[in-house]
Amino acid sequence: MRDFTLKTYKHLLQSFLSRNYKLINYSAYCKGVDADKFLILRHDVDEIAGNALKMAKLEHELGVSATYYFRIVQQSNKPEIIRKIASLGHEIGYHYEDLALAKGDLQFAKQTFEENLAYFRTFYPVKTVCMHGSSTSKYDNREFWKNFELKDFGLIGEPYLTTNFNEVYYLTDTGYAWDGGKFAVRDMVENSFDVTYHSSDDIIKVVEAGTFPDKCLMLAHTLWTDGYFQWTMLHIREFLRNNLKYVAQRNKLAKTIYSKLVKAYWKS
Ligand SMILES: [Zn+2]
Repeated sequence: MRDFTLKTYKHLLQSFLSRNYKLINYSAYCKGVDADKFLILRHDVDEIAGNALKMAKLEHELGVSATYYFRIVQQSNKPEIIRKIASLGHEIGYHYEDLALAKGDLQFAKQTFEENLAYFRTFYPVKTVCMHGSSTSKYDNREFWKNFELKDFGLIGEPYLTTNFNEVYYLTDTGYAWDGGKFAVRDMVENSFDVTYHSSDDIIKVVEAGTFPDKCLMLAHTLWTDGYFQWTMLHIREFLRNNLKYVAQRNKLAKTIYSKLVKAYWKS
């Protein structure tokens, strides 16, 4: 079975449901979960927003609510899609990158953060936000919170700041693998669990065997697709990107090339 398809995603969620995990969105976690076993569903809509809608429909059919974090850039910010996903009962959040876009100018970043948050609140009463990694920028978007507090903006959660990672296992599909953490530049956390899984199938087996951690935050990007062409192209791109990113962290010339390619990509 091909991994990172909608079909696989459905099997994955069904395996958790069959083992009595409560599937919740991020703000539900922030408010306090009344369950011993839960899986928080988080999606960063970095691009290909159309795929996000397909995942949202699938989750809706299974009766679960996830959190979709949208960026302000045009690849992610598609009003029609945001509206539809909200109407399916999902949580909408802001995938912010203001400090990187403002090139470190804190006051300007605060101003755009407020404006962008107000914009997303025209679709949904946004209560949680989540950092975008901005891997080619020297600014870490989380630095913003050294100067401001979530409650200043009427927010209750930010996965990197308000998740108890001693208790909650963090799972991310970065680079089309569940153990691709070495490719992540910023969107990673210190896990106090020393287990890793490679494929969705590995996870399904462990969940069904009852040995998967009881509490988990799962970040699934919106690159999951059933279409053969898109699936193949995305796998090739992620393979190249992973390797370039990996080398770029260790080599200056590669870093410059990677950074130029990413900028050109987002402009196109
Ligand atoms: Zn992102």
